[in-house]
Amino acid sequence: MKERRVPAWLSASLAVGAFVALWLAERRRPLRRAVESEGMHGARNLAVAVAAAAALQLVERPVVGPLTKIVERRGWGLLKLARLPRWMETALAVVLLDYTLYLWHVLTHRVPFLWRFHAAHHVDLDLDASTALRFHFGELAISTVWRGAQVALIGVTPLSLSVWQTFLFLSVLFHHSNVRLPVEIERRLNLFVVTPRMHGIHHSIVREETDSNWSSGLTVWDWLHGTLRLNVPQDEIAIGVPAYREPEEVGLAEVLKMPFGEQRAAWILPGGVRPSRAPLPVAPNHLLP
Ligand SMILES: [Zn+2]
Repeated sequence: MKERRVPAWLSASLAVGAFVALWLAERRRPLRRAVESEGMHGARNLAVAVAAAAALQLVERPVVGPLTKIVERRGWGLLKLARLPRWMETALAVVLLDYTLYLWHVLTHRVPFLWRFHAAHHVDLDLDASTALRFHFGELAISTVWRGAQVALIGVTPLSLSVWQTFLFLSVLFHHSNVRLPVEIERRLNLFVVTPRMHGIHHSIVREETDSNWSSGLTVWDWLHGTLRLNVPQDEIAIGVPAYREPEEVGLAEVLKMPFGEQRAAWILPGGVRPSRAPLPVAPNHLLP
């Protein structure tokens, strides 16, 4: 029987199409002002992305792909407890994968060993579609363990996994992008999915702001956990991690070596000051321009 999944050509074309469209839109309507030179920033992020893609191909795929086939054949996982129509099982699998990714994202910030790797993503001084690709290869290799657990416990089939991966990749490209959407449109979109202004707040140097907006697809998880924070004006956000404010500290070699060296106190500026923000006059769930 032919395996059901999203064809590779389709997910690849959607990904490339979205990346090009966002790249063009970022140049026409930028949301935040860039700190680093565009060429340098983009080249570095793409180099980190090549290593990340290799980790996915060499570590995650050989483990998770066959595991979804075993799960399907043996009927493992929560979703196999009920006999659901295939479309409903696929939709629920995508939702549960999205929720458990929220939990993993919280862990990458809370567990010091995981933060060593996730910090390589957060120290980027600018946030755009190229940042969406810039994850440390170690983070992606380690997350294979979590992905395997998600697949086995939820009961993720090859079809569900491919639908979720396609959706997630497009979502991650979109919410890391530096595209200025009309705020009214973004407010509406943000009721459902993570948007650029929302994720920009997660990349702020103010720790309380980074400790919010952990969702990667649907916004509902932050809303349910009370970690949704939308009331920070984008032009007041400094992107990055306080301990690494200079471009020389976040070069390609520094980023790749980051998890393996001595760790700095991430949330304190070199002068010893902890970035903070005066209370904002609007409710946390009100998206500001
Ligand atoms: Zn993060």
